[in-house]
Amino acid sequence: MSVMPLGIDPSLCLIGDVWGPCASGQVLALHNPSDGSVLCQIARGGAVDVDAAVAAARAALDGPWGQMPAFERGRILTRIGQLVLEHVEELAQLEALDVGKPLKQARADVIALARYMEFYGGSADKLHGTTIPYLDGYTVYTMREPHGVTGHIIPWNYPMQIIGRSVGAALAAGNAAVLKPAEEACLTALAFAEIAQRAGLPAGALNVVPGLGAEAGAALSGHPGVNHISFTGSVGVGKMIQAAAAQNVVPVTLELGGKSPQLVFEDADLDDALPFLVNAGIQNAGQTCSASSRILVHRSRYDEVLAAMADRYSALRAGPALADLDVGPLVSLRQKEIVEGFLAKGHDLQIAAQGQVVDDAPEGGAYVPPTLFAGSSADHVLAQDEIFGPVQIVLPFDDEDHAVEIANGTAFGLVASVWTKDGARQMRLAKRLHAGQVFLNNYGAGGGVELPFGGTGLSGHGREKGFEALFAFTSLKTVAARHG
Ligand code: ADP
Repeated sequence: MSVMPLGIDPSLCLIGDVWGPCASGQVLALHNPSDGSVLCQIARGGAVDVDAAVAAARAALDGPWGQMPAFERGRILTRIGQLVLEHVEELAQLEALDVGKPLKQARADVIALARYMEFYGGSADKLHGTTIPYLDGYTVYTMREPHGVTGHIIPWNYPMQIIGRSVGAALAAGNAAVLKPAEEACLTALAFAEIAQRAGLPAGALNVVPGLGAEAGAALSGHPGVNHISFTGSVGVGKMIQAAAAQNVVPVTLELGGKSPQLVFEDADLDDALPFLVNAGIQNAGQTCSASSRILVHRSRYDEVLAAMADRYSALRAGPALADLDVGPLVSLRQKEIVEGFLAKGHDLQIAAQGQVVDDAPEGGAYVPPTLFAGSSADHVLAQDEIFGPVQIVLPFDDEDHAVEIANGTAFGLVASVWTKDGARQMRLAKRLHAGQVFLNNYGAGGGVELPFGGTGLSGHGREKGFEALFAFTSLKTVAARHG
C-alpha cells in the first residue's frame, strides 16, 4: 500500500507523543491475506521499546493525564469516537486488507470501536466508590483508583473492537496504556493511536509497540513497571502471560477462546434460529473467540436442522475481503494450514455441506471453504478443540440433561445459546450452562458494548466490556476514618 489512511507510517511505534522506528530499526512484513502480497513493513519492537513505552506511560500518569478530571478524560474519549466515525471507510478498508475480513464486517467493527469510545467516554466520570455503614465513630468509604500502567496484548481477529473494549475502558478509568498489537494485523491500532492524538489525548496516555509476541509481547507481560495486563488470544499464550504477570504479582484479564454451543430444542423456531446458527460460525471466517462451532440439536429435529444449515452452507461464498462476500480469507497461510489440519481430522465424519471459494480468488490467498460437519460423538476432536476457522459440527442430543452434558463437556466456557420457547427451560439452562454469557433465543445479542463479556475454564477470567470492565481496570481502596 503506498498511501496509508490518516497519513500513518506503519513502520513506526508511538512512544509518548513521538512516532519513531523501534530501537533495533528492524521491521517485519505485513501480509494481505486476500492475495498473499506484502502490504507494508511494520516495526519489530522489542524490550527496549517496551521499556520506553512503559516509562512514557508512567510519565503521563505523573503529568497532565494523571491530573485530568474524569469528565475531561471522558470528553477526549468521546472525541476519539467521533473522529473514528469520520473515518469509517478508511478504517474499514484498512482492517479488511490487513485481517482479510469482508468490508461489511470491518465496517461493523469500526462502528463498534466508536461505540466503545462513546460508552467509556460517557462513563469516565461515573465511576465512584461507596460509603459503608460501620462502627460508631467511624466513617468508611471506598475509592476506585486506576491501576497505573496497563499492558494490552491483543490478537489479529478483531483489533478495533478489542482496542475499544480494553484500551477504551483502561483510559476511562485513568490508566495509561501500552498496546502491543498482533504481528499479523496491526494497522488499525496505529490508525487508532493517530486518531487519539488528533483528539487531544495527552502524550504517553497511549503508547503502541508493534512486534512479535515472543519479543515485544513477552517484554510487556513481564515488565515490572506494568500494573495490569489484559490479553485476548490463544490459551497457550494466555498461560504464559499469566505466569509472567505472576512474577510481578499483577492482575490479568484473560479472554481466551471457546467451543461455544447453540442448543436447539424440539420447540425451537427454526426460521428464527437459522441465520444465527450459521452466522455465529462463519462470521470473520470463524476466527472469533465467541464463534459458535457446535450446534446441538434435539434428535427429533436433527435431520431438519442439518438440512436447513446445509442449504445455507451450499450458498456461502468465500473470496477477497474487498469483494465483500460471506466469508473472507483466513488471516494467514499459517492459520489456513491449521484449519486444513482440522478438516483432515474430520475424515471419519460426514461433510453435510461446503461453501465455495470463488473462482477468481487470488492464488496466494488464505482461503478455506466454509464446512459443515454432521457428527454423532461429542468427544470427537472437532467437537472439542477450538478450530478458529469457518467450520461447524452438528450433534444430536436426547433430552435436556444430555444437552447440558454435551454443552458443558469441553474445557471452555465462553458463550452458550438456547433456542426454545419454554420459559422455564430457558431459566434452568441459563443457570446450568457453564459460560460467561448465555443467550436465549439469540446469539450474541448484537455484540453491544454495554454487555459484560468473558469466560470460565480455559476461556479465561475477568470481564471486559460494559461497566464491569471499568471495575477491572481499577483498584479499590477502603478508607476508614476514626473520628469519635
Ligand atoms: P493466535 O494464536 O490466535 O495468533 P496468539 O495468542 O499467538 O494468538 O497471539 C495473540 C497476541 O499475543 C499477539 O499480539 C501476539 O503477538 C501475542 N503473543 C504471542 N506470544 C506471546 C508471548 N510469548 N508473550 C506475550 N505475548 C505474546
